[in-house]
Amino acid sequence: MMRIDIATLFPDVCQAYMNESILGRAARKGLIETHCHQIRDYTLNKQKQVDDYPYGGGCGMVMNAQPIYDCCRAIIRQNWLYGRPRPHIVFMTAAGARYDEGHARRLATYDNLLLVCGHYEGMDERVIQEIGDEEISIGDYVLTGGELAALVVADSVLRLQPGVLAEPQGYQEESHWNGLLEYPQYTRPEVWQGRAVPPVLLTGHHANIEKWRAQQSLERTRTRRPDLYAAWQAKNNKT
Ligand code: SAM
Repeated sequence: MMRIDIATLFPDVCQAYMNESILGRAARKGLIETHCHQIRDYTLNKQKQVDDYPYGGGCGMVMNAQPIYDCCRAIIRQNWLYGRPRPHIVFMTAAGARYDEGHARRLATYDNLLLVCGHYEGMDERVIQEIGDEEISIGDYVLTGGELAALVVADSVLRLQPGVLAEPQGYQEESHWNGLLEYPQYTRPEVWQGRAVPPVLLTGHHANIEKWRAQQSLERTRTRRPDLYAAWQAKNNKT
């Protein structure tokens, strides 16, 4: 059963998200474990300050290496006490490798993940070098903190764990699993605001429905994401 730890200055925000809906239900059933930890608890100064001015000058503050390092060490120890392996440690940074479904599938194979969130102008580089296994960015933009990024990673990885989604293997029919975008989806009523559901979906003819969905999936990917379409064509030797 997979366990994810998040080291952050905002543990309540992260834990609140993971306690809800699909992930919350999965945790209550014992299918996954999530734990959020306050980096500030590991400071060694009275003010519980976690940041300082950047060497070399520049705007903003940089998070000190020590509290992040000690927080990670405490989490590693906690995992060890429960007989778990050392977590694979991922730092959320705007300069990391850009995240996609391939990363999610790879990270989903670890027993334990530890996601570390920066804030302010970022983290002292040395703690990343000392204890990090990899750096991930969730996209080419800058957030104020790593919490949303860590939740994106946690959510996309945990939903791949056995039993988390109601439908076994349900994730295999969604966008990005096979390199393509998903076909459009519809539910009741049959006509809404004058817009009818595509007739083929009402026929009950499974082969025709499959064929229509495959065509829609290909066409959507070709028009919306030519980059993905080209990669899919290359992989499947299509011209
Ligand atoms: N000075 C950093 C830079 O230019 O790369 C940005 C620091 S950002 C304001 C503060 C924190 O937010 C980072 O330490 C990181 O944890 C998180 N963060 C910001 N953008 C991110 C992204 N695209 N992906 C993952 N984490 C991000």
